[in-house]
Amino acid sequence: PHSVGIVGLPNVGKSTLFNAITQAGAESANYPFCTIDPNVGVVQVPDERLTKLTELVKPKSVVPTAFEFVDIAGLVKGASRGEGLGNKFLANIREVDAIAHVVRCFEDENITHVAGKVDPISDIETINLELILADLESVEKRLDRVKKMLKTQDKKVKEEYDLLEKLHEALANEKPARSVELTKEEQVIMKTIHLLTQKPVLYVTNVSEDEITDFTNNQYVKRVVDLAEAEGAEVVVISAKVESEIAELDGEDKEMFLEELGIQESGLDQLIKAAYRLLGLDTYFTAGEQEVRAWTIRRGTKAPQAAGVIHTDFERGFIRAEVIHFDELMSAGSMVAAKEKGLLRLEGKEYVVKDGDVMHFRFNV
Ligand code: GDP
Repeated sequence: PHSVGIVGLPNVGKSTLFNAITQAGAESANYPFCTIDPNVGVVQVPDERLTKLTELVKPKSVVPTAFEFVDIAGLVKGASRGEGLGNKFLANIREVDAIAHVVRCFEDENITHVAGKVDPISDIETINLELILADLESVEKRLDRVKKMLKTQDKKVKEEYDLLEKLHEALANEKPARSVELTKEEQVIMKTIHLLTQKPVLYVTNVSEDEITDFTNNQYVKRVVDLAEAEGAEVVVISAKVESEIAELDGEDKEMFLEELGIQESGLDQLIKAAYRLLGLDTYFTAGEQEVRAWTIRRGTKAPQAAGVIHTDFERGFIRAEVIHFDELMSAGSMVAAKEKGLLRLEGKEYVVKDGDVMHFRFNV
């Protein structure tokens, strides 16, 4: 299962956002891979292509793809030294694949800010520093261990040692591990080190309800956007309060409310899509009369492993896949027309599945 952790200082709107997620969220019963835990919210990934496929195929049921948001509460200054829920917090971050960092960009005299004033950049730095300090400790421990093994003259050990030194230097300069450029070999070693600041991040700016359609005058958002740009990170602007109201509605009611607010897509839907991109995930579809369904794969997955997402038997007995891209299917107008035009390709074991492929697998049982 793919998961995104929601982090942020106290009182920035995390719980409000997380409540919106669980309200709007899917029943985890439909997604056996999802955890049943009060701190985990399952969200369905909105996808216009799935809607169009459904109109085309008219199946009995439709299943969007999903992933998890994890509410990681309890971060305060000093967490890396075990303050607040420090250690538990850090352990929870270790388990997620990416981080959505919520910052407060709304003014409200009635809601105290832990640092005394609204300052999203300083909030981001506070959290980043805690994660960097925790990583620095991990790297130092590992350096000690690897140092002792250096005399074995093993080339692999030396490579790991050099990488750890490089990471140590970055972290000691208060730079996250993800800012370190890695060679292919180093990327492989990196997977065994499990650092917090290695995980991809996006920023969620929580603005007041009257600013969601026009936040151009919000200086806090502007600063976060600048910081994110320098890091190559995405920013999603939401109002957690409004999202919790939207999450109580669905179907036409939701559409009408969004129209009233003057927005096309809820902030939560934008956040879900951005998080999906951040996780490096692609979607392929299966389209039968029984069921039209979206499936999640890691970008670059080959056909047999993509089939394995449906069932391990599909991967084991994989023979071939019949493939047509969603766009081609739409221009052909129907599956029958696509077949007649010879647009269905037969692909083998080495085929890399593309985002938007409509797949039919042939396999041995
Ligand atoms: P957390 O500590 O980060 O989980 O923050 P909460 O979600 O509990 O929010 C802290 C307070 O800020 C609560 O009183 C919320 O109602 C309020 N709050 C959250 N989002 C907004 C918002 O968009 N606008 C305003 N005015 N208040 C908000």
